[in-house]
Amino acid sequence: MTAKCVGCGLDWNVSIYQKIPRTGYICPHCESRLRAGETLPNIQASQKARPQRTKGATT
Ligand SMILES: [Zn+2]
Repeated sequence: MTAKCVGCGLDWNVSIYQKIPRTGYICPHCESRLRAGETLPNIQASQKARPQRTKGATT
């Protein structure tokens, strides 16, 4: 099956066993960006769930 990533809006092939959060599917690419502390414009709703690292603390 495919799922549309809420971050980049692309359709990704995902396993039917892949768990897709209620907030929407986030592809590995966008997920790694989120983990790096980036925020994606389309994924602000899910940002509340976990505290984000403060931007610009160190470079
Ligand atoms: Zn994506």
